[in-house]
Amino acid sequence: MSAALDRSKILVQKFGGTSVGDAERIKRVAARIKSYYENGYLLVVVVSAMGHTTDELIKLASQISDNPPKREMDMLLSTGEQVSVAMLAMALHEIGVPAVSFNAQQIKIHTDARYSNARIEKIETDRLEKELAAGRICIVAGFQGIDEHQNITTLGRGGSDTSAVALAAALHAKECEIFTDVDGVYTADPNKVQGTRKHERISYDEMLELASLGAGVLHSRSVEFAKKYGVVIHVRSSFNFNTGTLVVPEEQIMEKLLVSGVTLKSDDARVSLNDIPDRPGIAAEVFHALAAQNINVDIIVQSTGKDNKNTISFTIPHKDLKQAREILELLLKNWGTGSASFDENIAIVSAVGVGMKSHSGVAASMFKSLADAGINIEMISTSEIKISCVIAKDRGREALQIVHDVFGLTQTA
Ligand code: ASP
Ligand code: MG
Repeated sequence: MSAALDRSKILVQKFGGTSVGDAERIKRVAARIKSYYENGYLLVVVVSAMGHTTDELIKLASQISDNPPKREMDMLLSTGEQVSVAMLAMALHEIGVPAVSFNAQQIKIHTDARYSNARIEKIETDRLEKELAAGRICIVAGFQGIDEHQNITTLGRGGSDTSAVALAAALHAKECEIFTDVDGVYTADPNKVQGTRKHERISYDEMLELASLGAGVLHSRSVEFAKKYGVVIHVRSSFNFNTGTLVVPEEQIMEKLLVSGVTLKSDDARVSLNDIPDRPGIAAEVFHALAAQNINVDIIVQSTGKDNKNTISFTIPHKDLKQAREILELLLKNWGTGSASFDENIAIVSAVGVGMKSHSGVAASMFKSLADAGINIEMISTSEIKISCVIAKDRGREALQIVHDVFGLTQTA
């Protein structure tokens, strides 16, 4: 049966929470899906929970417990998507389009067992292929999976993007369209920066950096998937029919910009470990302990040791501060020396671009532009295609605009 499927007709579409925020919007999405259906596409549609449902479910849980069992949290959070898939399937039926909704257990979206941050390992496609061959649209709950014992898992906030791209990869779909409330990927967040421009195309690697730096358009793991399996992602608006931004392999980008995007991340905090022992194994111990609790460390700076003492500073998400504090206090106690300090008043401004690989002086331009504005750089981190600076939080917005301007991204017309 599946042999008969024309893969070039399979399209995976994902609609985010805003796009399916209420019944009216769901009807609008259904009408849009209908037009693709009538054009002969075989559609698998992934949806997020309606509006702010996931946030509300988190709040609901907090009325019971400060520290609910992670398994039960995932059981709870996965319900949001179960509502929206059923609603969308109903809306399609209402306008005469055959559609059938599924949750992750029904499809068999296999993940590891890391509750609240599970990774997709394998997706079974038999049922979907059967439905597509029978001319039905498949509406699949995003953000959820099942582990090897059939426990429900979730993929991390914003994880429906990853569900969609993984489905596109598993089905060898033509493309994965991500419908959202912005009409593509911009040089910076248009709500924070003046004169931003929309990209026609952006490379996987740039998008990956931008996503993990908090650009907010795509779940970063969805971009990893897309890169690994060569899925073209089309980020576009659910409110109009304009072409959005294509996320593609670097070879398909003609004009390699020195800097293609700038971002500001304000939800990190800095931790400094001062006067800690300067000997092999200390850094390993610190970052191993943090990793064991799934705390993601971003920028790390270690000073040159002096008098057998050292300082290591690093950034972590705000939300992990409490847990990190407990872990580090234990380590300090074991070493019998050193102290920890925490600073929440930081922001990270970053510039990303594949053109950096072949040009020097990009970092220098960024540093100079910040210096000229009297903004102090507290930490620096670079990769082949990224430069990040930690600065004071209250200068964040200003820094973002400055860096956008200095790399010529700002449209003046
Ligand atoms: N509903 C989930 C969230 O709010 C997943 C998603 O929207 O992609 O994070
Ligand atoms: Mg999203």
